[in-house]
Amino acid sequence: MSPNLNFLIILSLLASPLFVQAAKGDKASTLVVYSARKEQLVKDIFEKYTQETGVEIQLKSGKAAALIETLKAEGSKTKADVLLTVDAGNLWHATQMDLLEPLSSKTLNTNVPAHLREKNGRWFGLSVRARTIAYNTDKVKPEDLSTYEDLASKKWEGRVCLRTSKKVYNQSLVAMLIHELGEKKAKEVVAGWVKNAAYIYSNDTKVLEAVAAGQCDVGIVNTYYLGRLLKNKKLPLKLFWPNQKSFGVHVNVSGAGVVKASHHKEQAQKFLEWLSAQEAQKTFAQVNMEFPVNPNVPQSSETAAWGTFKPNSSFNLTEAGRLQKKAVLLMQSVNYK
Ligand code: FE
Repeated sequence: MSPNLNFLIILSLLASPLFVQAAKGDKASTLVVYSARKEQLVKDIFEKYTQETGVEIQLKSGKAAALIETLKAEGSKTKADVLLTVDAGNLWHATQMDLLEPLSSKTLNTNVPAHLREKNGRWFGLSVRARTIAYNTDKVKPEDLSTYEDLASKKWEGRVCLRTSKKVYNQSLVAMLIHELGEKKAKEVVAGWVKNAAYIYSNDTKVLEAVAAGQCDVGIVNTYYLGRLLKNKKLPLKLFWPNQKSFGVHVNVSGAGVVKASHHKEQAQKFLEWLSAQEAQKTFAQVNMEFPVNPNVPQSSETAAWGTFKPNSSFNLTEAGRLQKKAVLLMQSVNYK
């Protein structure tokens, strides 16, 4: 073959659609994110990623359970590259169905503390929230409060507001109590909460509103709900950090993993790495008044105003999933609605 003919063949190959496809290889111009987070919480940060890298982020929003079911049903035909949701309990479900790819990323392993990611790298926390005690400042002094366990004691009879046990946030919290206290003691504690409960509500905001209105004196909520509520209203509410002399405050995450059936795993991993790094971390947590997962990134002034606290770091969040069934049964056994 003459060198000229060779050249022509190469030229025609370059122009063919097949070659364009092959050359793109694993590179996608769009990553598809199945997201259980509210769109307004992620829109700006995803746009920033597009500006920096040229990679568009296409969102499919929905409830965690529904998105996980969809992923399962779509199997290898899915267009999804990343699953983003809240609570380790939900992420654990996705791993149980074998929907997430184990990643070994030095960047992610450095940026995300070990207890806030899955042991095999199948999901990584991206923002942190604490599930803690909120109290009515007109009725309770911080000295009256001490631990999650203490809310089961007689002095809190009729003074506690709870969210329903059906919410994964409470299932993860009780899983943590089982891990720290053992099943027997955890059951006593949760039974005491139920006994002391004045009301059980469908969401954290209703719990906080009831505490503020004096229907009860204390409640257990995720921190950002208080942040949201106090943004528009002045209410007699404050957060208390329990168990500072023992295992610390229960923390959970919003987090993400790369979809096992994704055709752009390498790029999806880069996207998660970007989300865990300095620049993205500053805003990713802040929009929802959460804490950055990356310990090198300072928290916002809004969350800093709540004071410093010792988080529970001895409870690897993978356990929140593993112990979830036990937690649900425990709550049922003490009639926690
Ligand atoms: Fe929430």
